[in-house]
Parts: sequence; structure tokens; C-alpha cells
Amino acid sequence: MKSVGINGYGTIGKRVADAVAAQDDMKLVGVTKRTPDFESKMAVEKGYPLYISVPEREELFEEAGIKISGTIEDFYDKVDVIVDATPEGIGAKNMETYKKLGIKSTFQGGEKHDQIGKSFNSFANFNDAIGADYVRVVSCNTTGLCRTLKPINDLAGIKKVRAVMVRRGADPGQVKKGPINAIVPNPPTVPSHHGPDVQTVMNGLNITTMALLVPTTLMHQHNLMVELENSVTVDDVIDKLEETPRVILVEASKGLGSTAEVMEYAKDLGRPRSDLFEIAVWKESINVVDGELYYMQAVHQESDVVPENVDAIRAMLELEDDPARSIEKTNKAMGILG
Ligand code: NAD
Repeated sequence: MKSVGINGYGTIGKRVADAVAAQDDMKLVGVTKRTPDFESKMAVEKGYPLYISVPEREELFEEAGIKISGTIEDFYDKVDVIVDATPEGIGAKNMETYKKLGIKSTFQGGEKHDQIGKSFNSFANFNDAIGADYVRVVSCNTTGLCRTLKPINDLAGIKKVRAVMVRRGADPGQVKKGPINAIVPNPPTVPSHHGPDVQTVMNGLNITTMALLVPTTLMHQHNLMVELENSVTVDDVIDKLEETPRVILVEASKGLGSTAEVMEYAKDLGRPRSDLFEIAVWKESINVVDGELYYMQAVHQESDVVPENVDAIRAMLELEDDPARSIEKTNKAMGILG
């Protein structure tokens, strides 16, 4: 069985580690850490071999009583594919090392498309990643946009998309980021980078995006206006989204009228870390006016890209050539709805 390692065991890395460990067609052989913190300790407790990315820090891990399995050089010897989940910009630098060693890798949305060369979303372009060496899984916002725009494009054809994204200011654990008391146009220019990012996986889609940062840590919230090629009814859209994997419809009238309540629902689902891997679309928000479709959705930024990383690995290692089968397999192993 092919071996997968995680370089950068933070918000995304630790979640992808669990998702990979849950699959039966790939094996998690290790994770890397720089600091002997609680995440390092818990990785070892879970039975994940821990490798240190800065070999000079071995003593710190010893002092903290955290057992390591080796250094990053030992890690490279063990893996067929790396999930690089290091902070923005570091992945592209690491790519040089992976290339020298002939190791395949997925990268995250913080890296630039041009530097990695190929971007990925399970629904939009799985086949492009089959056998590929380096693939960038698009960002949490872009993944959220693709998850609903792809089925809508399949249903009615899209002439043009305009989207306004209300983005969380920081992840829940990021105590030093903000804003704490402001609404920040981010970027203050139009379009934001999200539209072009969608185009890296949905080639030719006409999309313009704007984005703001707000003082919340729970989720992103998206507002979409979609001009369609063919006329559809609200029920057609609801039926299409209901049958789309990794998308759920939620209803304000049933107590799910905010991102806080949607995350409360995720807690009640009993998911690890209360993650919501699915994109939650507010059913009441779906409307068609003068041939234009409107809807609102919520994106759990810490987790929506996790199943996409698993599908990307499966495509790169040629373990599956059918996107629907990979999506189904990943979902089943991770307990994802739909
Ligand atoms: P994070 O800071 O939570 O985790 C990064 C991990 O990498 C940390 O454990 C850190 O100690 C480690 N690290 C730092 N420098 C390293 C190095 N040189 N070598 C190895 N490990 C190193 O970051 P994150 O939020 O998980 O983001 C990782 C990537 O995922 C970024 O590209 C980001 O843009 C992208 N992403 C983040 C989110 C999100 O909401 N957090 C969503 C989607 C995509």
C-alpha cells in the first residue's frame, strides 16, 4: 500500500492525517512537527510516527518527553506522497526538495497556482490530477464555491457568477489575528483573488468576487448571484444540490439560521473536532429572479478542503480513475453526509 506523510501538522495537516488514516487504500506513515507542543504529544498518542522538521530541536522534544521517530530526512525516506500543509509560501519552497527526491505532493490554497502548476477540486477537475506529481488543493473559499457552482453549471449552464464572501477573521485557535472590532474589505480591490482561483479548476467560468473580513472565527459565509444559460426552477436547484455529495441544505426555520447554529449542528453530529466537511446552503436563500439564481452558503474553513486532499492523493497515485467513486470512498471513510 502507498505511504502518505503530512508535512506541517497544524489546522489542515492534523485533519488530513486523520482522514488519510481512515482510508483503506493508503497508509499514513508519519507527520512532521517543529515544536514539542500539545499537537506533537497528541500525534504520538494517536500512534502517528512523529518526525521533527528542524533536526537541531531534537533535545527540546526529548526534554518534553515526546518520542520522535526521526528527522525530516527519515520522513522523506518513508513516503510516496506528502501532504504539504505548512504555512502559506513555505510549500512552494519545499517543492524544490520534493522534486529532488522524486516525491509527489499535494499543496494547500496558500500556495500560488503558478508555482505549483496544477490546482485541484474533486468535483471540478479530478481527472487532471490522475498520475500528477504536484497538485494544489484550492483554498477553503474556492473549494466552497466549486462545490455548489459545479453542480449548478451541470444543471443549467452558467453565464456569469458574482459572489460576495464574508470571511472569518481568524481560525478559532489564532489568538493573534483579527479584526476584533471592524469590517475589513479584504482585499479592498475588486475582484478578489477568489474568482481567478475558481478559474484554475473551472476553466472559462465567468466569475467576479468581492471579499470582506469580519470578527468571527467559526465559518466563512458566501452570497452568490448566478446568471444561467437555461431556465430552472427553485425546486430544480434544490433537487440538484440535495443529490450533490459534500453539500447539505440547512434551514433557518429549523434553527440553523446562522453560522453559529450550523457549527452547533456539526457538534451534534459528533464529528471529530466538530468539523463540517460539507458546504451548508441555506435552503430559504435559494431563489430565481429574472433568470438569475441567488443563494447563500456557509463554509467551515478548517475542514472543507480535507476530503479534497484525500481525493487528490488517490488521483495522483492512480488508485482511482473515477471522481465519483473516489468521492464516495473518501466520504464513507470520513462519515461525510450526502
Ligand atoms: P497552521 O499554521 O495551522 O499549520 C501549519 C503547520 O506547519 C504548523 O504546525 C507549523 O508549526 C508547521 N510549520 C511551520 N513552518 C514549517 C516548516 N518550515 N516546515 C514544516 N512545518 C512547518 O496553518 P494552516 O491553517 O493549517 O494552513 C496550512 C495551509 O493550508 C496554508 O497554505 C493555508 O493557506 C491553507 N489553508 C488553511 C485553511 C484554514 O482555514 N486554516 C483553510 C484552507 C487552506
